[in-house]
Amino acid sequence: MNTALTRVGPAAERPAPPEEVESSETGGKEPAADAAPGPSTAFRLLVTRREPAVRLQYAVSGLEPLAWSEDHRVSVSTARSIAVLELICDVHNPGQDLVIHRTSVPAPLHSCFLKVGSKREVAECKQRFATSEDPTVSQTFMLDRVFNPEGKALPPLRGFKYTSWSPVGCDANGRCLLAALTMDNRLTIQANLNRLQWVQLVDLTEIYGERLYETSYRFSRNEAPEGSLRDFAEFQRRHSMQAPVRMEWSGICTTQQVKHNNECRDVGSVLLAVLFENGNIAVWQFQLPFAGKESISSCNTIESGISSPSVLFWWEYEHNNRKMSGLIVGSAFGPVKILPVNLKAVKGYFTLRQPVVLWKEMDQLPVHSIKCVPLYHPYQKCSCSLVVAARGSYVFWCLLLISKAGLNVHNSHVTGLHSLPIVSMTADKQNGTVYTCSSDGKVRQLIPIFTDVALKFEHQLIKLSDVFGSVRTHGIAVSPCGAYLAVITTEGMVNGLHPVNKNYQVQFVTLKTFEEAAAQLLESSVQNLFKQVDLIDLVRWKILKDKHIPQFLHEALEKKIESSGATYYWRFKLFLLRILYQSMQKTPSEALCKPTHEDSKILLVDSPGMGNAEDEQQEEGTSSKQISKQGKDGDPEDPTEDSLPQSGDTGGREPMEEKLLEIQGKIEAVEMHLTREHMKRVLGEVYLHTWITENTSIPTRGLCNFLMSDEEYDDRTARVLIGHISKKMNKQTFPEHCSLCKEILPFTDRKQAVCSNGHIWLRCFLTYQSCQSLIYRRCLLHDSIARHPIPEDPDWIKRLLQSPCPFCDSPVF
Ligand SMILES: [Zn+2]
Ligand SMILES: [Zn+2]
Repeated sequence: MNTALTRVGPAAERPAPPEEVESSETGGKEPAADAAPGPSTAFRLLVTRREPAVRLQYAVSGLEPLAWSEDHRVSVSTARSIAVLELICDVHNPGQDLVIHRTSVPAPLHSCFLKVGSKREVAECKQRFATSEDPTVSQTFMLDRVFNPEGKALPPLRGFKYTSWSPVGCDANGRCLLAALTMDNRLTIQANLNRLQWVQLVDLTEIYGERLYETSYRFSRNEAPEGSLRDFAEFQRRHSMQAPVRMEWSGICTTQQVKHNNECRDVGSVLLAVLFENGNIAVWQFQLPFAGKESISSCNTIESGISSPSVLFWWEYEHNNRKMSGLIVGSAFGPVKILPVNLKAVKGYFTLRQPVVLWKEMDQLPVHSIKCVPLYHPYQKCSCSLVVAARGSYVFWCLLLISKAGLNVHNSHVTGLHSLPIVSMTADKQNGTVYTCSSDGKVRQLIPIFTDVALKFEHQLIKLSDVFGSVRTHGIAVSPCGAYLAVITTEGMVNGLHPVNKNYQVQFVTLKTFEEAAAQLLESSVQNLFKQVDLIDLVRWKILKDKHIPQFLHEALEKKIESSGATYYWRFKLFLLRILYQSMQKTPSEALCKPTHEDSKILLVDSPGMGNAEDEQQEEGTSSKQISKQGKDGDPEDPTEDSLPQSGDTGGREPMEEKLLEIQGKIEAVEMHLTREHMKRVLGEVYLHTWITENTSIPTRGLCNFLMSDEEYDDRTARVLIGHISKKMNKQTFPEHCSLCKEILPFTDRKQAVCSNGHIWLRCFLTYQSCQSLIYRRCLLHDSIARHPIPEDPDWIKRLLQSPCPFCDSPVF
């Protein structure tokens, strides 16, 4: 094994023997000066447990069983289903626990048989191989699980091998899609569109098999004609060319679509690369939003020539608005390389001229996991890509920089991390911090430190046993902004004995302090609360515990609001006030967040779309509060209805009630500010897209009057905008009418419209139209409601309806 470590690349640092670092860890000695970097005090990490631990019903299965999506859902591959845990930063819940909404993707009912020929032919051949006189054929055939997914004498292959989340913005609601690979090689794409049930949008294994069948299992006309299926080697070849090993999504890219009138239109698309057993890679291109088979725009197969491929990942490098892409592929024998991916249709997209070898030795250290993070090199002053690969108990890293001289590659191994092989690796995309874990409950945090030309890693041990007691670990995943680490655990040894039963749990620990989270939120370049749910959840936890907003955060936020005025900071303020309001609740938090039987009933009765998907019972204290809200039709924005102090506690209520009223007043003021800002945006769209005589269907006059009605509100941009619009509209008013009695619906309230006969309609908070139907959409936190787009809506109204919630940034669906 050590031979591998001496063969590092030209820029390699000298790796230290593992024991040296290990001892500095446990004994608290200073690491030897020229040893691999040990933990320095600057990087001391304190992890804290977050409740609740989520119990899994089935054993975890597959490779890297845990994945955390950009929209804050954690998928866990198990032997019967994929458990999906959605982290909700609930502003209506006073409980200090994480609020987790559980759903699950059931495994298909039927085994998957890869299509290697016509039904009759395949049945004939199988019979022939099973009864072959040649034991190398009959035994190989009988024992191969790809050929025999149902098993017969062998236990059935069930459960999931791997899952991969698409970037956010891919499904019809603008959220993430889940690519799921079963143990028996069925690769499907799943979506959760109604919050409860997952639906399969497409079966890629089936489509790919059909395509191969139609082209007689050849990729080009020049290829030699196919062999006969009766030949066992050919039978094996046709299986291995379509048995997926892993799959990974690219980032969202833009493609040009030519319309009927020869006009070009930019369309979002995403790529899914699927690595097969024989080393081939299928690159699927999907149009967004992905809806199913009709969204497939192409599928190209790349022959990598890599034997025993084990893992792949996208390499995406951006430099001067030019995007470079390729696929990083690792092999079970050791090598790692980047392959070019040619896709003509993708705008501004470039690839390599030839493959780049990152590690060439066949040193039998299997590549288990690969991650690639884009970073900025502060000394070389250019963007660079950090590629990390888990190989045995080591981390291989590679830094790629593109300069005028061409592509620079620096590589090395980090040793002394684990005494057992790495079972799982995850990376924080914001800063390149890598976490590795071995099965003995030890997690390493690796922090990249830039040097003049390349980088080095500082690393330190996170002993989960300090937090959870003795545990075995099966997988880890870091949250998108690096606030939390999710870990799959089972009981470890107690008094030298293995546990009798294995209880699989997903547990959470914090990786950042509240101060770090707050600072990151204040300096955020994303400016979207929903995308930073993990960070705001840490802030929520702190405020609920302390029952006040820390002074430094309050002051820093007020400064930001004053200096930039960006609505993001107003939304952040609204969030803090709402949590502060919850923290003032007199009711014991348990009473509100523990699920009651009624809650579960509401959930079942009120969700017509719910089938057997939820095959795993609701966890106590995780989701009921959040779910039960869906069944309620009152205005969820009004916090008075269920959150004022409860009776039963007579003494000293008045100061608290006053305080609550004060916070509520502030909440309303911030909501009003955000509403006005959004109204200005809507009016701006109306002005841009309409002409005098056109009926906009948006209550324009009502919006203008509403904005002008408050004398205290003096906003120059609003006045100028309203002036322009008034000129355009002349004296026309375009009032809305009640669909029940045809009376005029006046615009007096931003939340609802009431006609003179007392019919009440809620207002869509994205367009301020009255929602005259009983079906509408809500944001994830149920702040408000929005209507569904209809085919008659002009494009600009459809775009407005795609906006996130103006109060919390979450998608509306
Ligand atoms: Zn009416
Ligand atoms: Zn919202």
